[in-house]
Amino acid sequence: MASHIVGYPRMGPKRELKFALESFWDGKSSAEDLKKVSADLRSSIWKQMADAGIKYIPSNTFSYYDQVLDTTAMLGAVPSRYNWTGGEIGFDTYFSMARGNASVPAMEMTKWFDTNYHFIVPELGPDVNFSYASHKAVDEYKEAKGLGVNTVPVLIGPVSYLLLSKPAKGVEKSFPLLSLLDKVLPIYKEVISELKAAGASWIQFDEPTLVLDLEAHQLEAFTKAYAELESTLSGLDVLIETYFADVPAGAFKTLTALKGVTAFGFDLVRGTQTLDLIKGGFPSGKYLFAGVVDGRNIWANDLAASLELLKSLEGIAGKDKLVVSTSCSLLHTAVDLINEPKLDDEIKSWLAFAAQKVVEVNALAKALAGDKDEAFFSASAAAQASRKTSPRVTNEAVQKAAAALRGSDHRRATNVSARLDAQQKKLNLPVLPTTTIGSFPQTVELRRVRREYKAKKISEEEYVKAIKEEIKKVVDLQEELDIDVLVHGEPERNDMVEYFGEQLSGFAFTANGWVQSYGSRCVKPPIIYGDVSRPKPMTVFWSSIAQSMTKRPMKGMLTGPVTILNWSFVRNDQPRFETCYQIALAIKDEVEDLEKAGITVIQIDEAALREGLPLRKAEHAFYLNWAVHSFRITNVDIQDTTQIHTHMCYSNFNDIIHSIIDMDADVITIENSRSDEKLLSVFREGVKYGAGIGPGVYDIHSPRIPSTEEIADRVNKMLAVLDTNILWVNPDCGLKTRKYTEVKPALQAMVSAAKAIRTQL
Ligand code: GLN
Ligand code: ZN
Repeated sequence: MASHIVGYPRMGPKRELKFALESFWDGKSSAEDLKKVSADLRSSIWKQMADAGIKYIPSNTFSYYDQVLDTTAMLGAVPSRYNWTGGEIGFDTYFSMARGNASVPAMEMTKWFDTNYHFIVPELGPDVNFSYASHKAVDEYKEAKGLGVNTVPVLIGPVSYLLLSKPAKGVEKSFPLLSLLDKVLPIYKEVISELKAAGASWIQFDEPTLVLDLEAHQLEAFTKAYAELESTLSGLDVLIETYFADVPAGAFKTLTALKGVTAFGFDLVRGTQTLDLIKGGFPSGKYLFAGVVDGRNIWANDLAASLELLKSLEGIAGKDKLVVSTSCSLLHTAVDLINEPKLDDEIKSWLAFAAQKVVEVNALAKALAGDKDEAFFSASAAAQASRKTSPRVTNEAVQKAAAALRGSDHRRATNVSARLDAQQKKLNLPVLPTTTIGSFPQTVELRRVRREYKAKKISEEEYVKAIKEEIKKVVDLQEELDIDVLVHGEPERNDMVEYFGEQLSGFAFTANGWVQSYGSRCVKPPIIYGDVSRPKPMTVFWSSIAQSMTKRPMKGMLTGPVTILNWSFVRNDQPRFETCYQIALAIKDEVEDLEKAGITVIQIDEAALREGLPLRKAEHAFYLNWAVHSFRITNVDIQDTTQIHTHMCYSNFNDIIHSIIDMDADVITIENSRSDEKLLSVFREGVKYGAGIGPGVYDIHSPRIPSTEEIADRVNKMLAVLDTNILWVNPDCGLKTRKYTEVKPALQAMVSAAKAIRTQL
């Protein structure tokens, strides 16, 4: 019985690659240094898998930046603005595409399916001259072989590559990207031939787009592509790997009929329906790679349950054709539990990071082969049992409160326009009120204060004093700028989810549980392991202090339940919506405490609401329904005169606008400045929107300082489609990553633009 790993994290257990990359980019170390660190990481990963006993070990899953960009390099599909002149693509061109350079901006980056990993979107058109321009796949295969490890080289499949790309600038939006198949396949053939010549006996093509809603002509492209590659592939075992969801019935039929393919990989953690398809008809004589170990989460596998499932699959694929695997690349989970000295033993026993998952896969394969590690399996059973019964996981009161939510959809009693009237009486704001999104620049000094307080190097008193001073500075600045609704600046927060997670029960935090987000950037999601509750108020202290410093309304600032959920590692022992409702109840307590403390405007950020959208359209409505419901729960019981704001970090919400309206917030501030037209088109098309809305008037992601005129111009454009009395004027997002030298003049321009337009109304 064999074992396989779809892919492995590249960053290293202590983010070695991140530091090597950043030091190289800063000119502090050489290309050779970077290559050395990378080669060491690769070899230790291969050795680790080989030592664990994994049979099919992947290569070419390492990347200096992103695996899709690697494919773009392999195909020589460099956009012309990078002035690449041919030959093997080096660091210069590669990192220019990834990050831009002094004269040319980077290529666009977008989310990899529904993960928090971002890939570099290929820009293609009829004029691209494809050529074999990066031998990385072959080089890595040879490198591993040189270390005595015969790996399975992994390539992003040609069809997924094209489906994930976009028409280059200047190319018609309607350009059929799949028409480029004939041009990319010859390069794939060159790569495959070289891999064969180098001694590869297996090859893996990742074709995750097979789990999406595909049209017939898109499915046909798979049939065509692999038929075309068949003769080149002959002599190799060929695995097509899918992940992140089940493969729809039509795609399953196409997939399992592909020519030249000998093995199929499925995500059996998220793809529960695939199981039925497999049971309903798996082609005989082919390998079944069963992804039973979750690559998207940090929970230890329930080995007994997996073993049972695998045994049932053995009856379908045959004993020698079933391979135990991970549900997807382990890129999306943390690296190694060994670097978590602070997590207690009980919680640790419930977890498995990438390194531990490799061991699980192998233990399952061995058990299937009749060589069961009894001690390992009974430890797993004990951990599963302890998770089920631990009082740290279950909180009866929370369970009861969450259950009691059923039967109501929690809508505020008064409609939004009447509420806005009541609020205006109390707040007495000018038309086009100005505000900001929450955070102000996080200076080096501020980070130091927080770090030292955490490390107990400064006393609570000193810490409170420092934060108070910072708030005072931010309040004074906003008054001086004459902003209408103020914020306290969030100086006490390191991260908008972590800050709340640390104060809620049911959350655990890792020291090194990093997951790559893009390039060298990593995030460290909290782990939600138990029922969520709020032992005591979390923000009331700081918000009250801030409010006491000004007569203007001071926004209470909270992170919403859906965002906390979507940016955490979530429990797998209850549905996501259950956990979300629990967080909603905790935030509800906080909202009500803020109201009691005299805070009249409360912003509940749902920056990540859209991110949680399921991959397939048929599942959107269900998700949006519980996500939006969770948001409403947080503020259903407050007075009409308390104004609820929410904020979202994307403008791309034309397709979910009705859900956003259904959140029933009083005011929504949204990112907009990078795509004015998109957002405004919704309203131009006549969508009825009665609540307050603040489409960002300038881009905070750029150091560029906007002029009063250009902001006024934007606001006027918005006024053409939105009522004067619902429009707010604010930046795109929080100001935390900017410098004061940028923030001051930018906000000044924003306020003068608002004032100038007011006089013209
Ligand atoms: N209130 C948060 C801030 O201003 C919002 C951040 C976000 O939307 N990502 O930083
Ligand atoms: Zn934002």
